[in-house]
Amino acid sequence: MFATVMHSPGDVRFEQVDDPKIVKPTDAILKLSATCICGSDLWPYRGLQPSSGPAHMGHEYCGVVVEVGRDVRTVRPGQFVVGSFCISDNTCPHCAYGFQSSCVQREFMSGAQAPYARVPLADGTLVATAEMPADDLIPHLLATSDVLGTGWYAADAAGVGKGSTVVVVGDGAVGLMGVLSAKEMGAERIIAMSRHKDRQALATGFGATDIVAERGEEGVARINELTRGVGADAVLECVGTQEAMSQAIDCCRPGGSIGYVGVPHGVTLEGQAMFFAQRRMLGGPATVRRFLPDLIDRVLTGKIEPGKVFDLTLPLAEVAEGYRAMDDRLAIKTLLTV
Ligand SMILES: [Zn+2]
Repeated sequence: MFATVMHSPGDVRFEQVDDPKIVKPTDAILKLSATCICGSDLWPYRGLQPSSGPAHMGHEYCGVVVEVGRDVRTVRPGQFVVGSFCISDNTCPHCAYGFQSSCVQREFMSGAQAPYARVPLADGTLVATAEMPADDLIPHLLATSDVLGTGWYAADAAGVGKGSTVVVVGDGAVGLMGVLSAKEMGAERIIAMSRHKDRQALATGFGATDIVAERGEEGVARINELTRGVGADAVLECVGTQEAMSQAIDCCRPGGSIGYVGVPHGVTLEGQAMFFAQRRMLGGPATVRRFLPDLIDRVLTGKIEPGKVFDLTLPLAEVAEGYRAMDDRLAIKTLLTV
């Protein structure tokens, strides 16, 4: 088959690779219904993350099971499934505690920007729907696999609840999904920090009540003003830079919580500053598997439309163009049709 391979920063090719096959008896092979490019794929694309030779890209996926290994019990060929970007057994103590993204058997999904993909630990990773979903639901279901699941985790980790005042730092796809998640969780006020008109409009559509265009100290001052000097109950950090992290911590009220899902690049925290700040922090790769059944249900019942975050759709063969568009910030998130 032809699939997506990143050879070096900026060099993404759609080229011939081996067809995926069952390697372990716990694997499944999927025929993907659609796939997409993640903001985190841009880190190696921009050379900001060391890479060791050609990599099969893609970790967000949904599709139809075509083959399973002999030990797979919960999914079978012909079923539509969505899986997390974190591979998990869903049975170990960390999985049982709801932290499937720290599973003792954790692997990270790869090779999903392709027509077919192999999913290890299929029983613990995949969630099947009762019926084959309609085509127009595919983008929304695909979004649950990572981008929505990650925004949801940020909001969950930040303790968003009914009546919360929430600040979302970062207006990329995950930040926008964080807005949607906070809204679903009953937040009363959702302040999206965004400088881009089109993203501000999307954030408002997903439930943001206020927009703050300022950044850094000015951004913090503006949040302070909007919250009458108190700060937010919950802050979602969806960028991963020092500036964003500092802003997130400074926007939060004492006793409040920060959920951080931007993969930190060059972020350091100072012990004594954290001691006196008195904020809770929980981050890491999202526990998507914990949320998947609920998120899939919300999509299937039409409660949420997270697929609106895709603002560019390309055929898989034009994947390189999709990376370029996101790198140049011409697109928020690219959906690839298979
Ligand atoms: Zn586990």
